[in-house]
Amino acid sequence: MEERLWDAAVVGAGPAGLTAALYCARAGLSTVMLEKLSPGGQMATTNEIENYPGFPGVTDGFELADRMRRQAESFGASQRSAEVLSLRLEGAEKVLVTKAGEIRARCVILAPGAAPRELGLPNEAALRGKGVSYCATCDGAFYRKKTVAVIGGGDTAAADAVFLSGLCEKVYLVHRRGKLRASGSYAKKLQKENVEIVWDSVVEEILENEKGRVSGVRLRNVKTGETRALTLSGVFVAVGNIPATDFAKGAVPLDEAGYFTAGEDTQTGVPGVFAAGDCRRKPLRQIVTAAADGAVAAYAAEAYLQDQQQ
Ligand code: NAP
Repeated sequence: MEERLWDAAVVGAGPAGLTAALYCARAGLSTVMLEKLSPGGQMATTNEIENYPGFPGVTDGFELADRMRRQAESFGASQRSAEVLSLRLEGAEKVLVTKAGEIRARCVILAPGAAPRELGLPNEAALRGKGVSYCATCDGAFYRKKTVAVIGGGDTAAADAVFLSGLCEKVYLVHRRGKLRASGSYAKKLQKENVEIVWDSVVEEILENEKGRVSGVRLRNVKTGETRALTLSGVFVAVGNIPATDFAKGAVPLDEAGYFTAGEDTQTGVPGVFAAGDCRRKPLRQIVTAAADGAVAAYAAEAYLQDQQQ
C-alpha cells in the first residue's frame, strides 16, 4: 500500500477526470489521477471535434486530451497508470485497489467513462483486429480505398461514416431502423457518392474468409425478413457504449444499465464519492458535459473535505 493519503483520487482521465483533477489541484488539494491506458478516454480517439466551445473549426481529440492533461499537471495533479479493480469506501479513508497496489484518498471522483458496446455475434471477438473495429479514427487508415460498413445510427456511427468516406472507396451505413438517431447536422454530410445507408437492417452474421479475416456481412431486413450479403474488408461497430463501472459494483449505487445513479450534483450517495462524465446517468454525453461534470465533482469534493475538517 502506498503510504501517502491523497486529498482526492480521480478514477479515469477522460475529459471528466482531467477537468476534475484540474479543478481539485487548482483548489490546492493533493490530487492523483488513475488511468489504465493513456489519458483522454474516448476523446483521444476522436479525430474531428467541432463542437467543443472555444475551439472553432476542427479540433483533434488527442491534442485536446493532451492539453487537458498538461493543464491539470501544471497545477500539480499527478497521473498514474493503474487499473482500479475494486473500492473500499466506508469511513473517512477511501481505498482504491489497483493492479499496481492500493491508493488511499480522503475523497474519490469516479470518471471511468464508457466502452464500446459489441453486436454480440459469435465470431465478433475473434475477428476484432481482423476486420472488426470499434474505433474508426484509430483503424480507418487500414481500410484506405476499401469497402467497409459502419453499424449503428447514432452520432458515433454517422461521424464514423463521414470520416471513413474520406478514406474508403465505399461506406455502407447499416441502421436497424428507418431513421437515424444522429443529430440532423449529419444528414447533409452523409450525402456523398460513396456512402450508402442501408435502413431497417441488422447484421445477422459477420462473414470471414479462409484467412480468418472479415470478408463481409449478412444483413437481415427487419421489416421484410429478406437477407442480403455485403462484400467488405472491414466492419466498424458503433452501436453505443457500456459504462466502465464494473469495478464499483457493490460499493457505489448503479442503475440497471450500469451507470452511476449520481445526478447533476455528481453525488453518488456514498459520502465523499462523486461520479462525473459518461459513467453517470445523464441526457447528453459530450466532451463539454463531461468537463462540466468534472468541475462540479471537484467543487462538491472540496466542500465535502471542508465539512470533514470542521
Ligand atoms: P447512441 O447515441 O446510443 O446510438 C447507438 C446507435 O446504435 C443507435 O442508433 C442504436 O439504434 C444502435 N444500436 C444499439 N444497439 C444496437 C445493436 N445491438 N444492433 C444494431 N444497432 C444498435 O451511441 P453513440 O452514437 O455512440 O453516441 C453516444 C453519445 O455520444 C451520444 O450522446 C452522442 O450524442 C454522443 N456523441 C456525440 C458526437 C458529436 O457530437 N460529434 C459524436 C459521437 C458521439 P436505435 O437508434 O434504434 O436505438
